[in-house]
Amino acid sequence: MPLLFVALHGALLVVGGRHAWLVSLVFLILAPLMAGAACIYRARHGGFARGWIALAIAMLLWAGGMAGNLFSGLVLDSWSGVGALSMLLFILYGVPIILVLAVPEREPWPVRLIDAGLALALGYLFFRHTFALASLADASLSNIVKLRLMFDIENLYIFAFALIRFLASANPAQRAFFGGLSVYAALYLVTAAFINHLHSDVYYGQWPDLVIGLPFLILAGLALADRGGASMPVSLRFGRAVRVGGPLMLPAALLTVSAVLVGAQPLHAIAGCAAAILGYGMRTIWVQVRSLDAHDRLEHLARVDQLTGLGNRRQFDESLRREWLRAQRTGQGLALLMIDIDHFKLLNDSFGHPVGDRRLHEVAQALAGCATRGVDTVARYGGEEFAAILPGATPQHARMLAETMRAAVARLELPSPAPLGYVTVSIGIGHIDQVADGDVAVLAAAADAALYEAKQSGRNRSMTHAATG
Ligand code: GH3
Ligand code: MG
Ligand code: MG
Repeated sequence: MPLLFVALHGALLVVGGRHAWLVSLVFLILAPLMAGAACIYRARHGGFARGWIALAIAMLLWAGGMAGNLFSGLVLDSWSGVGALSMLLFILYGVPIILVLAVPEREPWPVRLIDAGLALALGYLFFRHTFALASLADASLSNIVKLRLMFDIENLYIFAFALIRFLASANPAQRAFFGGLSVYAALYLVTAAFINHLHSDVYYGQWPDLVIGLPFLILAGLALADRGGASMPVSLRFGRAVRVGGPLMLPAALLTVSAVLVGAQPLHAIAGCAAAILGYGMRTIWVQVRSLDAHDRLEHLARVDQLTGLGNRRQFDESLRREWLRAQRTGQGLALLMIDIDHFKLLNDSFGHPVGDRRLHEVAQALAGCATRGVDTVARYGGEEFAAILPGATPQHARMLAETMRAAVARLELPSPAPLGYVTVSIGIGHIDQVADGDVAVLAAAADAALYEAKQSGRNRSMTHAATG
Protein backbone atom coordinates (compact mmCIF):
# COMPACT_ATOMS: atom_id res chain seq x y z
CA MET A 1 0.00 0.00 0.00
CA PRO A 2 2.55 2.66 1.00
CA LEU A 3 4.69 1.68 -1.97
CA LEU A 4 1.73 2.00 -4.32
CA PHE A 5 0.94 5.42 -2.91
CA VAL A 6 4.53 6.62 -3.33
CA ALA A 7 4.70 5.12 -6.84
CA LEU A 8 1.49 6.90 -7.84
CA HIS A 9 2.77 10.13 -6.35
CA GLY A 10 6.06 9.72 -8.26
CA ALA A 11 4.35 8.90 -11.53
CA LEU A 12 2.08 11.92 -11.27
CA LEU A 13 5.07 14.11 -10.44
CA VAL A 14 6.63 13.05 -13.74
CA VAL A 15 3.54 13.65 -15.83
CA GLY A 16 2.39 16.64 -13.75
CA GLY A 17 4.89 18.99 -15.33
CA ARG A 18 3.97 22.55 -14.45
CA HIS A 19 1.38 21.33 -11.96
CA ALA A 20 3.66 18.92 -10.19
CA TRP A 21 3.58 21.10 -7.03
CA LEU A 22 -0.22 20.73 -6.97
CA VAL A 23 0.06 16.96 -7.26
CA SER A 24 2.53 16.90 -4.39
CA LEU A 25 0.41 19.04 -2.08
CA VAL A 26 -2.67 16.89 -2.72
CA PHE A 27 -0.69 13.74 -1.94
CA LEU A 28 0.80 15.37 1.15
CA ILE A 29 -2.67 16.24 2.41
CA LEU A 30 -3.95 12.76 1.68
CA ALA A 31 -1.09 10.95 3.41
CA PRO A 32 -1.65 12.36 6.94
CA LEU A 33 -5.42 12.11 6.46
CA MET A 34 -5.07 8.42 5.66
CA ALA A 35 -2.82 8.00 8.70
CA GLY A 36 -5.37 9.87 10.85
CA ALA A 37 -8.20 7.63 9.62
CA ALA A 38 -6.09 4.55 10.41
CA CYS A 39 -5.43 5.91 13.92
CA ILE A 40 -9.15 6.41 14.51
CA TYR A 41 -9.80 2.88 13.26
CA ARG A 42 -7.22 1.58 15.72
CA ALA A 43 -8.69 3.66 18.56
CA ARG A 44 -12.08 2.03 17.95
CA HIS A 45 -10.70 -1.48 17.67
CA GLY A 46 -9.10 -2.22 20.98
CA GLY A 47 -6.17 0.14 20.80
CA PHE A 48 -4.94 2.63 23.38
CA ALA A 49 -7.80 4.97 22.36
CA ARG A 50 -6.59 8.16 24.05
CA GLY A 51 -3.24 7.92 22.29
CA TRP A 52 -4.47 6.97 18.83
CA ILE A 53 -7.05 9.78 18.87
CA ALA A 54 -4.41 12.33 19.89
CA LEU A 55 -2.33 11.08 17.01
CA ALA A 56 -5.31 11.41 14.65
CA ILE A 57 -5.77 15.05 15.78
CA ALA A 58 -2.08 15.66 15.11
CA MET A 59 -2.49 14.21 11.60
CA LEU A 60 -5.44 16.51 11.00
CA LEU A 61 -3.41 19.55 12.10
CA TRP A 62 -0.58 18.56 9.78
CA ALA A 63 -2.96 18.00 6.87
CA GLY A 64 -4.45 21.43 7.70
CA GLY A 65 -1.00 22.99 7.44
CA MET A 66 -0.48 21.43 4.04
CA ALA A 67 -4.00 22.49 2.97
CA GLY A 68 -3.01 26.05 3.92
CA ASN A 69 -0.04 25.77 1.59
CA LEU A 70 -2.30 24.51 -1.17
CA PHE A 71 -4.77 27.33 -0.57
CA SER A 72 -2.18 30.06 -0.69
CA GLY A 73 -0.62 28.48 -3.78
CA LEU A 74 -3.90 28.29 -5.61
CA VAL A 75 -5.74 31.40 -4.48
CA LEU A 76 -3.29 33.89 -3.13
CA ASP A 77 -0.29 32.96 -5.15
CA SER A 78 1.79 34.17 -2.26
CA TRP A 79 3.14 32.39 0.81
CA SER A 80 3.24 34.99 3.56
CA GLY A 81 0.12 35.16 5.80
CA VAL A 82 -1.36 31.76 5.10
CA GLY A 83 2.18 30.46 4.97
CA ALA A 84 2.66 31.49 8.57
CA LEU A 85 -0.67 29.88 9.52
CA SER A 86 0.45 26.67 7.87
CA MET A 87 3.71 26.86 9.74
CA LEU A 88 1.79 27.23 12.98
CA LEU A 89 -0.35 24.18 12.22
CA PHE A 90 2.79 22.17 11.47
CA ILE A 91 4.18 23.11 14.85
CA LEU A 92 0.89 22.70 16.75
CA TYR A 93 0.73 19.20 15.35
CA GLY A 94 3.14 18.20 18.11
CA VAL A 95 0.99 19.47 20.99
CA PRO A 96 -1.59 16.64 21.20
CA ILE A 97 1.23 14.13 20.85
CA ILE A 98 3.29 15.74 23.62
CA LEU A 99 0.17 15.88 25.75
CA VAL A 100 -0.52 12.17 25.42
CA LEU A 101 3.14 11.39 26.06
CA ALA A 102 3.31 13.62 29.12
CA VAL A 103 0.01 13.11 30.93
CA PRO A 104 -0.42 9.84 32.78
CA GLU A 105 -3.78 8.11 32.76
CA ARG A 106 -6.37 8.53 35.49
CA GLU A 107 -5.29 11.91 36.79
CA PRO A 108 -7.85 13.89 38.82
CA TRP A 109 -9.28 16.97 37.15
CA PRO A 110 -7.17 19.67 38.90
CA VAL A 111 -4.02 17.99 37.60
CA ARG A 112 -5.52 17.63 34.14
CA LEU A 113 -6.40 21.32 34.26
CA ILE A 114 -2.80 22.26 35.03
CA ASP A 115 -1.56 20.04 32.19
CA ALA A 116 -4.09 21.52 29.79
CA GLY A 117 -2.95 25.01 30.87
CA LEU A 118 0.67 24.08 30.18
CA ALA A 119 -0.26 22.60 26.79
CA LEU A 120 -2.16 25.78 25.93
CA ALA A 121 0.78 27.94 27.00
CA LEU A 122 3.02 25.81 24.80
CA GLY A 123 0.64 26.20 21.85
CA TYR A 124 0.45 29.94 22.43
CA LEU A 125 4.22 30.31 22.49
CA PHE A 126 4.46 28.34 19.25
CA PHE A 127 1.90 30.72 17.83
CA ARG A 128 3.75 33.87 19.00
CA HIS A 129 7.01 32.49 17.83
CA THR A 130 5.86 31.50 14.38
CA PHE A 131 4.16 34.79 13.69
CA ALA A 132 6.90 36.88 15.23
CA LEU A 133 9.48 35.23 13.03
CA ALA A 134 7.35 34.93 9.92
CA SER A 135 6.08 38.50 9.95
CA LEU A 136 9.42 40.16 10.49
CA ALA A 137 10.23 42.23 7.43
CA ASP A 138 13.63 40.68 7.15
CA ALA A 139 12.83 37.02 7.01
CA SER A 140 16.44 36.70 7.95
CA LEU A 141 18.40 33.53 7.89
CA SER A 142 18.67 33.54 11.68
CA ASN A 143 14.89 33.52 12.04
CA ILE A 144 14.56 30.64 9.64
CA VAL A 145 17.27 28.82 11.51
CA LYS A 146 15.34 29.38 14.76
CA LEU A 147 12.13 28.05 13.25
CA ARG A 148 13.94 24.95 12.04
CA LEU A 149 15.49 24.59 15.44
CA MET A 150 12.03 24.66 17.00
CA PHE A 151 10.82 21.96 14.61
CA ASP A 152 13.87 19.84 15.35
CA ILE A 153 13.51 20.21 19.11
CA GLU A 154 9.82 19.35 19.01
CA ASN A 155 10.43 16.29 16.84
CA LEU A 156 13.32 15.14 18.98
CA TYR A 157 11.25 15.49 22.16
CA ILE A 158 8.42 13.48 20.66
CA PHE A 159 10.71 10.69 19.52
CA ALA A 160 12.65 10.52 22.79
CA PHE A 161 9.56 10.56 25.00
CA ALA A 162 7.73 8.04 22.80
CA LEU A 163 10.70 5.67 23.05
CA ILE A 164 10.91 6.06 26.83
CA ARG A 165 7.19 5.45 27.24
CA PHE A 166 7.48 2.41 24.95
CA LEU A 167 10.26 0.93 27.04
CA ALA A 168 8.30 1.57 30.24
CA SER A 169 4.93 0.18 29.06
CA ALA A 170 3.96 -3.28 30.23
CA ASN A 171 0.40 -3.13 28.93
CA PRO A 172 0.19 -4.58 25.36
CA ALA A 173 -2.16 -1.90 23.97
CA GLN A 174 0.01 0.93 25.29
CA ARG A 175 3.16 -0.82 24.20
CA ALA A 176 1.81 -1.16 20.66
CA PHE A 177 0.86 2.52 20.62
CA PHE A 178 4.13 3.89 21.98
CA GLY A 179 6.11 1.45 19.86
CA GLY A 180 4.28 2.57 16.71
CA LEU A 181 4.66 6.18 17.73
CA SER A 182 8.41 5.70 18.30
CA VAL A 183 8.91 4.26 14.80
CA TYR A 184 6.82 6.99 13.23
CA ALA A 185 8.46 9.77 15.30
CA ALA A 186 11.95 8.55 14.34
CA LEU A 187 11.01 8.58 10.65
CA TYR A 188 9.37 11.97 10.98
CA LEU A 189 12.40 13.38 12.81
CA VAL A 190 14.78 12.23 10.10
CA THR A 191 12.47 13.25 7.26
CA ALA A 192 11.79 16.70 8.70
CA ALA A 193 15.49 17.29 9.32
CA PHE A 194 16.31 16.12 5.78
CA ILE A 195 13.69 18.39 4.20
CA ASN A 196 14.21 21.42 6.45
CA HIS A 197 17.98 21.44 6.41
CA LEU A 198 18.87 20.04 3.01
CA HIS A 199 15.94 20.83 0.79
CA SER A 200 14.24 23.81 2.35
CA ASP A 201 14.98 25.97 -0.68
CA VAL A 202 13.44 23.47 -3.07
CA TYR A 203 9.78 24.06 -3.67
CA TYR A 204 7.03 21.42 -3.76
CA GLY A 205 6.76 19.33 -6.90
CA GLN A 206 10.19 17.74 -6.64
CA TRP A 207 11.39 14.26 -5.80
CA PRO A 208 12.02 14.96 -2.08
CA ASP A 209 8.24 15.29 -1.68
CA LEU A 210 8.03 11.51 -1.99
CA VAL A 211 10.00 11.24 1.25
CA ILE A 212 7.77 13.68 3.18
CA GLY A 213 4.69 11.47 2.92
CA LEU A 214 6.53 8.31 3.92
CA PRO A 215 6.27 8.57 7.74
CA PHE A 216 2.49 9.03 7.47
CA LEU A 217 2.11 6.02 5.24
CA ILE A 218 4.17 3.91 7.60
CA LEU A 219 2.10 5.19 10.54
CA ALA A 220 -1.10 4.17 8.71
CA GLY A 221 0.39 0.70 8.24
CA LEU A 222 1.42 0.49 11.91
CA ALA A 223 -2.02 1.60 13.09
CA LEU A 224 -3.75 -1.03 10.97
CA ALA A 225 -1.36 -3.85 11.77
CA ASP A 226 -2.83 -6.22 14.33
CA ARG A 227 -0.23 -6.67 16.99
CA GLY A 228 -2.07 -7.99 19.99
CA GLY A 229 1.14 -8.92 21.74
CA ALA A 230 1.52 -10.20 25.27
CA SER A 231 2.35 -7.91 28.15
CA MET A 232 6.03 -7.33 28.74
CA PRO A 233 7.81 -7.48 32.05
CA VAL A 234 9.14 -3.99 32.79
CA SER A 235 11.33 -3.08 35.74
CA LEU A 236 9.05 -1.69 38.45
CA ARG A 237 11.51 1.09 39.26
CA PHE A 238 11.91 2.14 35.63
CA GLY A 239 8.14 2.06 35.03
CA ARG A 240 7.60 4.21 38.11
CA ALA A 241 10.37 6.66 37.21
CA VAL A 242 8.81 7.18 33.78
CA ARG A 243 5.32 7.55 35.21
CA VAL A 244 6.47 10.06 37.81
CA GLY A 245 8.86 11.85 35.43
CA GLY A 246 6.39 11.98 32.52
CA PRO A 247 4.75 15.19 33.70
CA LEU A 248 8.12 16.93 33.36
CA MET A 249 7.85 16.65 29.56
CA LEU A 250 5.37 19.50 29.13
CA PRO A 251 7.23 22.05 31.27
CA ALA A 252 10.52 20.96 29.67
CA ALA A 253 9.09 21.60 26.19
CA LEU A 254 7.71 24.93 27.39
CA LEU A 255 11.08 25.96 28.83
CA THR A 256 12.88 25.00 25.62
CA VAL A 257 10.53 26.97 23.40
CA SER A 258 10.76 29.94 25.79
CA ALA A 259 14.54 29.78 25.58
CA VAL A 260 14.45 29.89 21.77
CA LEU A 261 12.00 32.78 21.94
CA VAL A 262 13.99 34.91 24.39
CA GLY A 263 15.61 37.14 21.75
CA ALA A 264 12.55 37.88 19.64
CA GLN A 265 9.87 37.97 22.37
CA PRO A 266 11.52 38.36 25.77
CA LEU A 267 8.31 39.01 27.70
CA HIS A 268 6.60 35.97 26.31
CA ALA A 269 9.68 33.93 26.95
CA ILE A 270 9.72 34.99 30.61
CA ALA A 271 5.99 34.27 30.92
CA GLY A 272 6.59 30.85 29.33
CA CYS A 273 9.35 30.05 31.85
CA ALA A 274 7.19 31.22 34.75
CA ALA A 275 4.23 29.14 33.53
CA ALA A 276 6.46 26.07 33.20
CA ILE A 277 7.88 26.40 36.71
CA LEU A 278 4.62 27.36 38.41
CA GLY A 279 2.62 24.71 36.52
CA TYR A 280 5.07 21.98 37.42
CA GLY A 281 5.27 23.25 41.00
CA MET A 282 1.50 23.25 41.43
CA ARG A 283 1.26 19.82 39.92
CA THR A 284 3.93 18.53 42.27
CA ILE A 285 2.20 20.08 45.31
CA TRP A 286 -1.06 18.44 44.34
CA VAL A 287 0.51 15.04 43.78
CA GLN A 288 2.46 15.26 47.06
CA VAL A 289 -0.64 16.16 49.06
CA ARG A 290 -2.48 13.26 47.46
CA SER A 291 0.29 10.81 48.22
CA LEU A 292 0.43 12.00 51.86
CA ASP A 293 -3.34 11.44 52.06
CA ALA A 294 -2.90 7.97 50.60
CA HIS A 295 -0.10 7.28 53.07
CA ASP A 296 -2.35 8.29 55.98
CA ARG A 297 -5.15 6.07 54.69
CA LEU A 298 -2.79 3.11 54.44
CA GLU A 299 -1.38 3.79 57.90
CA HIS A 300 -4.92 3.79 59.24
CA LEU A 301 -5.85 0.62 57.35
CA ALA A 302 -2.76 -1.11 58.68
CA ARG A 303 -3.99 -0.58 62.26
CA VAL A 304 -7.70 -1.28 61.94
CA ASP A 305 -9.42 -4.65 61.98
CA GLN A 306 -11.72 -4.74 58.95
CA LEU A 307 -14.39 -6.99 60.49
CA THR A 308 -14.99 -5.15 63.76
CA GLY A 309 -13.66 -1.65 63.11
CA LEU A 310 -11.54 -1.88 66.29
CA GLY A 311 -7.79 -1.51 66.40
CA ASN A 312 -6.01 -4.69 65.24
CA ARG A 313 -3.23 -6.72 66.80
CA ARG A 314 -0.57 -4.38 65.45
CA GLN A 315 -2.21 -1.39 67.11
CA PHE A 316 -2.69 -3.37 70.31
CA ASP A 317 1.00 -4.32 70.45
CA GLU A 318 2.10 -0.74 69.81
CA SER A 319 -0.29 0.72 72.39
CA LEU A 320 0.65 -1.82 75.04
CA ARG A 321 4.38 -1.17 74.56
CA ARG A 322 3.78 2.60 74.68
CA GLU A 323 1.62 2.43 77.81
CA TRP A 324 4.06 0.07 79.52
CA LEU A 325 6.89 2.59 78.99
CA ARG A 326 4.65 5.46 80.10
CA ALA A 327 3.71 3.56 83.29
CA GLN A 328 7.41 2.94 83.87
CA ARG A 329 8.07 6.70 83.59
CA THR A 330 5.10 7.95 85.59
CA GLY A 331 4.95 5.23 88.21
CA GLN A 332 1.25 4.72 87.60
CA GLY A 333 -0.44 1.34 87.46
CA LEU A 334 -1.52 -0.43 84.26
CA ALA A 335 -4.30 -2.96 83.61
CA LEU A 336 -4.87 -5.29 80.69
CA LEU A 337 -8.14 -7.12 80.00
CA MET A 338 -8.18 -10.22 77.80
CA ILE A 339 -11.73 -10.85 76.65
CA ASP A 340 -12.70 -14.15 75.03
CA ILE A 341 -16.13 -15.15 73.71
CA ASP A 342 -17.46 -18.29 75.38
CA HIS A 343 -18.20 -21.39 73.28
CA PHE A 344 -17.70 -19.45 70.10
CA LYS A 345 -16.69 -22.51 68.14
CA LEU A 346 -20.05 -24.01 68.96
CA LEU A 347 -21.80 -20.89 67.67
CA ASN A 348 -19.76 -20.97 64.47
CA ASP A 349 -20.45 -24.66 63.93
CA SER A 350 -24.21 -24.32 64.51
CA PHE A 351 -25.02 -21.00 62.81
CA GLY A 352 -22.20 -20.77 60.28
CA HIS A 353 -19.22 -18.50 59.86
CA PRO A 354 -21.10 -15.44 58.49
CA VAL A 355 -23.34 -15.36 61.59
CA GLY A 356 -20.18 -15.76 63.69
CA ASP A 357 -18.72 -12.72 61.95
CA ARG A 358 -21.81 -10.65 62.71
CA ARG A 359 -21.66 -11.66 66.38
CA LEU A 360 -18.00 -10.67 66.52
CA HIS A 361 -18.93 -7.22 65.20
CA GLU A 362 -21.78 -6.82 67.71
CA VAL A 363 -19.65 -7.92 70.65
CA ALA A 364 -16.86 -5.56 69.53
CA GLN A 365 -19.26 -2.60 69.46
CA ALA A 366 -20.58 -3.41 72.91
CA LEU A 367 -17.05 -3.67 74.36
CA ALA A 368 -15.90 -0.43 72.73
CA GLY A 369 -19.04 1.34 73.99
CA CYS A 370 -18.03 0.57 77.59
CA ALA A 371 -14.57 2.15 77.37
CA THR A 372 -15.54 5.78 77.86
CA ARG A 373 -12.36 7.17 79.42
CA GLY A 374 -10.69 8.16 76.17
CA VAL A 375 -7.26 6.88 77.25
CA ASP A 376 -8.36 3.23 77.13
CA THR A 377 -7.70 1.15 74.03
CA VAL A 378 -10.01 -1.68 72.95
CA ALA A 379 -8.62 -3.85 70.16
CA ARG A 380 -9.24 -7.18 68.46
CA TYR A 381 -6.45 -9.37 69.73
CA GLY A 382 -7.16 -12.15 67.23
CA GLY A 383 -9.92 -14.66 66.41
CA GLU A 384 -12.71 -14.23 68.96
CA GLU A 385 -10.46 -12.57 71.51
CA PHE A 386 -10.39 -8.89 72.36
CA ALA A 387 -8.14 -6.86 74.63
CA ALA A 388 -8.44 -3.59 76.52
CA ILE A 389 -5.50 -1.54 77.79
CA LEU A 390 -6.34 0.66 80.76
CA PRO A 391 -3.52 3.10 81.62
CA GLY A 392 -3.42 4.29 85.21
CA ALA A 393 -6.28 1.97 86.24
CA THR A 394 -6.53 0.60 89.78
CA PRO A 395 -7.52 -3.08 90.20
CA GLN A 396 -10.97 -1.90 91.37
CA HIS A 397 -11.45 0.24 88.32
CA ALA A 398 -10.27 -2.56 86.02
CA ARG A 399 -12.67 -5.00 87.67
CA MET A 400 -15.52 -2.55 87.37
CA LEU A 401 -14.93 -1.98 83.68
CA ALA A 402 -14.56 -5.74 83.07
CA GLU A 403 -17.90 -6.32 84.80
CA THR A 404 -19.51 -3.55 82.75
CA MET A 405 -18.21 -5.15 79.57
CA ARG A 406 -19.29 -8.64 80.52
CA ALA A 407 -22.78 -7.43 81.45
CA ALA A 408 -23.06 -5.32 78.28
CA VAL A 409 -22.37 -8.37 76.08
CA ALA A 410 -24.74 -10.58 78.06
CA ARG A 411 -27.46 -7.92 77.87
CA LEU A 412 -27.38 -8.11 74.05
CA GLU A 413 -28.78 -11.66 74.40
CA LEU A 414 -27.31 -12.66 71.06
CA PRO A 415 -28.63 -16.21 70.38
CA SER A 416 -26.00 -18.91 70.87
CA PRO A 417 -26.01 -22.72 71.27
CA ALA A 418 -23.96 -22.17 74.47
CA PRO A 419 -25.54 -23.49 77.72
CA LEU A 420 -26.94 -20.07 78.64
CA GLY A 421 -28.58 -19.67 75.22
CA TYR A 422 -26.92 -16.34 74.46
CA VAL A 423 -23.42 -15.00 73.81
CA THR A 424 -21.24 -14.31 76.85
CA VAL A 425 -17.60 -13.43 77.38
CA SER A 426 -15.00 -14.37 79.95
CA ILE A 427 -12.49 -11.70 80.97
CA GLY A 428 -9.01 -12.08 82.43
CA ILE A 429 -7.67 -8.99 84.17
CA GLY A 430 -3.93 -8.53 84.49
CA HIS A 431 -2.86 -5.69 86.71
CA ILE A 432 0.44 -4.16 87.70
CA ASP A 433 0.94 -1.47 90.35
CA GLN A 434 4.48 -0.44 89.68
CA VAL A 435 6.31 -1.09 86.43
CA ALA A 436 10.00 -1.72 87.12
CA ASP A 437 12.49 -3.10 84.58
CA GLY A 438 10.46 -6.16 83.66
CA ASP A 439 9.02 -7.04 80.28
CA VAL A 440 5.47 -6.22 79.21
CA ALA A 441 4.95 -9.96 78.70
CA VAL A 442 4.46 -10.39 82.45
CA LEU A 443 1.26 -8.32 82.25
CA ALA A 444 -0.01 -10.32 79.28
CA ALA A 445 0.80 -13.56 81.10
CA ALA A 446 -1.14 -12.41 84.18
CA ALA A 447 -4.18 -11.50 82.05
CA ASP A 448 -3.95 -14.86 80.23
CA ALA A 449 -3.75 -16.79 83.49
CA ALA A 450 -6.78 -14.86 84.83
CA LEU A 451 -8.72 -15.60 81.65
CA TYR A 452 -7.91 -19.30 81.95
CA GLU A 453 -9.17 -19.24 85.48
CA ALA A 454 -12.37 -17.47 84.45
CA LYS A 455 -12.98 -20.15 81.81
CA GLN A 456 -12.24 -22.95 84.25
CA SER A 457 -14.58 -21.62 86.88
CA GLY A 458 -17.60 -21.55 84.60
CA ARG A 459 -17.22 -18.74 82.00
CA ASN A 460 -19.28 -15.52 81.76
CA ARG A 461 -17.16 -13.95 84.49
CA SER A 462 -14.00 -11.97 85.13
CA MET A 463 -10.93 -12.85 87.21
CA THR A 464 -7.93 -10.81 88.24
CA HIS A 465 -4.22 -11.66 88.47
CA ALA A 466 -1.61 -9.28 89.73
CA ALA A 467 1.67 -9.09 87.90
CA THR A 468 5.03 -7.91 89.15
CA GLY A 469 7.71 -6.56 86.92
P1 GH3 B 1 -14.07 -21.14 74.87
O1 GH3 B 1 -15.35 -20.84 75.59
O2 GH3 B 1 -13.23 -22.06 75.64
O3 GH3 B 1 -13.35 -19.90 74.50
O4 GH3 B 1 -14.47 -21.91 73.55
P2 GH3 B 1 -14.39 -21.41 72.12
O5 GH3 B 1 -15.18 -22.31 71.24
O6 GH3 B 1 -14.79 -19.97 72.02
O7 GH3 B 1 -12.84 -21.44 71.86
P3 GH3 B 1 -11.97 -21.92 70.66
O8 GH3 B 1 -10.68 -21.18 70.78
O9 GH3 B 1 -11.92 -23.42 70.59
O10 GH3 B 1 -12.73 -21.43 69.35
C1 GH3 B 1 -12.60 -20.17 68.86
C2 GH3 B 1 -13.35 -20.14 67.56
O11 GH3 B 1 -13.42 -18.85 67.04
C3 GH3 B 1 -12.72 -21.01 66.50
C4 GH3 B 1 -12.83 -20.21 65.25
O12 GH3 B 1 -13.59 -20.90 64.27
C5 GH3 B 1 -13.60 -18.95 65.64
N1 GH3 B 1 -13.12 -17.80 64.97
C6 GH3 B 1 -11.91 -17.21 65.08
N2 GH3 B 1 -11.85 -16.12 64.30
C7 GH3 B 1 -13.05 -15.99 63.69
C8 GH3 B 1 -13.60 -15.05 62.75
O13 GH3 B 1 -12.96 -14.09 62.32
N3 GH3 B 1 -14.89 -15.24 62.35
C9 GH3 B 1 -15.64 -16.28 62.80
N4 GH3 B 1 -16.88 -16.38 62.36
N5 GH3 B 1 -15.12 -17.19 63.65
C10 GH3 B 1 -13.86 -17.05 64.10
MG1 MG C 1 -10.20 -18.09 72.11
MG1 MG D 1 -13.63 -18.50 73.05
